[in-house]
Amino acid sequence: MSNQKSSLLMAESRKPRAKVQTAIDAVLKAMRLCEEVQAEMVPTDAIQKTDRSPVTVADFGSQALICKAIGDAFPDDPIVAEESAQALRENASLLARVTGYVNRFCEDASASTENVCEWIDRGSGEVGPSFWTLDPIDGTKGFLRRDQYAVALAYIVNGTVQLGVLGCPNLPHRLNDGDVQRGSLFVATRGEGTRLYTKTGDFIEHVHVSEAVHRFAESVESTHGDSDAHGNIANALGITESPVRMDSQAKYGIVSRGEASLYIRLPNPAFPDYRECIWDHAAGLIVVEEAGGTVTDANGTPLNFLTGKRMHENRGIVATNGKLHQHVLKALSDLY
Ligand code: AMP
Ligand code: MG
Repeated sequence: MSNQKSSLLMAESRKPRAKVQTAIDAVLKAMRLCEEVQAEMVPTDAIQKTDRSPVTVADFGSQALICKAIGDAFPDDPIVAEESAQALRENASLLARVTGYVNRFCEDASASTENVCEWIDRGSGEVGPSFWTLDPIDGTKGFLRRDQYAVALAYIVNGTVQLGVLGCPNLPHRLNDGDVQRGSLFVATRGEGTRLYTKTGDFIEHVHVSEAVHRFAESVESTHGDSDAHGNIANALGITESPVRMDSQAKYGIVSRGEASLYIRLPNPAFPDYRECIWDHAAGLIVVEEAGGTVTDANGTPLNFLTGKRMHENRGIVATNGKLHQHVLKALSDLY
């Protein structure tokens, strides 16, 4: 193949359009795996990582399915994902459980334990000119509580998120609307807006942020933010409604749909050196931006996805409907 032809092919394979359907199909499959694990979960399906955070059969299974799909379709694309197969290689019964679930979603159900480890470890790629980032289950604590969690996949080119697919299996199409079916899939492509689908992949609508809603979102886990400070900022903005507390990047989803005007995540004073992980924010960021909102860190600095797995140059997160953004940053600089 001539050099010109191969560089053209390379450029073509970096285009997000070619990636969208592969990413959607993979996330939908991973959402189904997560739901099946959640329905059948036994206590040994969850273990603790060295940082004492939980990881489950579903985290590993979701990562295996998505990394297999991306790696098969785009073998040259690096994937930077949260999990590794190391703990599974040391735990034969857990690996067998994961392999069983993965095989439910593989055509001939013939994946070996070694295949599954290899697929998971496709996620050990490096941040670079173009790469994917994946959180196979964002909000594992929410998953274990049978609450909100998300499968979050993003594609980043030259530091800009070009595609975000955010699957939230337990998030209803409309919040607080008891009769509405659970399961929301957000798909955002740069310059083309944010679309909402059901968890079976049926298109519902384009979503947009709202200036009519005055409500903020924050984490359920109090150690993942500074809820006193969040409350003070809300007061300064005249927001009187109590916050929506929700695990995972589902918070970005509800900002994008106009169900909250602000998602705020200030560093917890007990963990001043904590730096946010790229897979916890890349998909959510484009979902909000393409719905008309704005995302920066707490200083108003754009999120930098090129400093490695963690965003070393950023502190905290502010995601808004856009209109509110400067007001939030002003309140932050006045108060802190
Ligand atoms: P959330 O569900 O929004 O609370 O976010 C879950 C994510 O919080 C996890 O994926 C962790 O990567 C991240 N996390 C863990 N510890 C902290 C911390 N001290 N501050 C902020 N985020 C954290
Ligand atoms: Mg996460």
